[in-house]
Amino acid sequence: MTSQPATTLLILGASGDLTRRLLLPGIGTLLASQPERRLQVVGADLRELDADDWHGRVRDALAEGGAGAPAADAVLATTRYAAGDATDDEALRALLASIPCDRLVIYFALPPHVTELVCAALERIGVPGGTILAIEKPFGDSLATARELNALVTRIVPEERVFRIDHMLGLHTVLNLIGLRFANRLMEPVWDRDGIERVEVLYDETVTLEDRAGYYDRNGALRDMIQSHLLQIMAMLAMEPIASVGERDLRDAVGQVLRAARVVDPVRDSRRGRYAAGDIDGRAVPDYTAEQGVDPARGTETIAEIEVAIDNQRWAGVPFVLRSGKSLGEVRKRAVIHWRAPAHVPSGMHGRDTPDKLVIDFKPDGFELHLTTNGKGDPFTLEQTVLRGELGGAHLLPYGEVLASILDGDPRLAVRGDAAEECWRIVEPVLEAWRRDDVPMASYPAGSTGPEGWATS
Ligand code: NDP
Repeated sequence: MTSQPATTLLILGASGDLTRRLLLPGIGTLLASQPERRLQVVGADLRELDADDWHGRVRDALAEGGAGAPAADAVLATTRYAAGDATDDEALRALLASIPCDRLVIYFALPPHVTELVCAALERIGVPGGTILAIEKPFGDSLATARELNALVTRIVPEERVFRIDHMLGLHTVLNLIGLRFANRLMEPVWDRDGIERVEVLYDETVTLEDRAGYYDRNGALRDMIQSHLLQIMAMLAMEPIASVGERDLRDAVGQVLRAARVVDPVRDSRRGRYAAGDIDGRAVPDYTAEQGVDPARGTETIAEIEVAIDNQRWAGVPFVLRSGKSLGEVRKRAVIHWRAPAHVPSGMHGRDTPDKLVIDFKPDGFELHLTTNGKGDPFTLEQTVLRGELGGAHLLPYGEVLASILDGDPRLAVRGDAAEECWRIVEPVLEAWRRDDVPMASYPAGSTGPEGWATS
């Protein structure tokens, strides 16, 4: 083992869903590929959990992530669990005092409103120097609350030690996007309003509510996916050329795009829908409103689409359509770049009826370039040739990547405070229009392609 400084990962909300399903296995995958990491894991939650129970959870999750001895044994030898209310100053002070460490990461795997209360307590009691705060989405629930939370967390630690987690695009996917755009002579010269007619970012899932009504029914597809993740992807697609893939260059470029982005007419430029009973791969799915824990009166959408305008020289007039939905018939996690038609096709050539496009797939990462070329039979006819490429994937589970970046103190992929606020600013007019019921709620059967008439590529 190398002599890396030991880090203590204090997980608040350690008996919750995120910790069990994603965070602990994420540690496993991290240790599997980087066994030299020295990590102490301390779990804390309201629930009483005996030491054996906690050890069992950590052991199983490390195994699930693929961690082997001696890295897993080293974590198991020092991990412990503390029951208590993390919003209580004295309980939190005692918890922090019990952690002797060189470096402390506090991971908030808590309900969002509890995270805010714990941050308020941390401001009162203080944190050890060098502490990193890792905060899950949603970051606030409006522009105003995101601003307040930003102000609060940066009174506890400086911005560069606040990691607002966005696990959607891992490091590989971000670098793949940047390479595709900037590391060849083909893409960048046509990557603007002259070359591109429209951009779509699609995140269609076949998963249903899956017992997450407590969270999802209060949020819906726009808040859960578009506000947090798809706007980040859009920003990566639309950003100006960067000098380096360093944290400052990357996050400045993302912030610049988001500041220029807006939904011009929230009623015209947004759509929402909710799944009705249907069937996905032979599995019967109930109507969303009949799912356990759903309150139909909340009017929560399970599919959302917005059209975003980016008011700058590069993108004026090019719509960016962002869409995400649950319980659809097919998984589609991709961006589609629709190229403009050529200014003139030599007369005498015919048959060009499908616009050219670049499809960028996320996880597995790859692309398809659909290009008009001459037909294989009659050379006067035109048809499309599809060029396919595979791009490298991550070695770690998404939360392994998230944890690696936090432990390395690399906030490159964390959402910066200004970006978190901009994302709320962009979607708020839409949320307001939906609250006023100015946009009808469409319906689609589970397992379908979405509401009728919602054409996407
Ligand atoms: P859960 O409700 O499953 O877990 C939260 C845990 O926090 C519960 O065990 C809860 O205990 C505990 N808790 C509540 N109040 C306190 C307190 N005062 N002190 C200590 N512990 C407390 O939520 P999730 O794990 O699903 O989500 C956690 C965060 O992660 C949320 O911000 C969510 O949006 C985000 N997230 C979750 C994902 C997921 O797939 N689950 C995916 C991406 C993000 P009790 O149950 O007893 O109240």
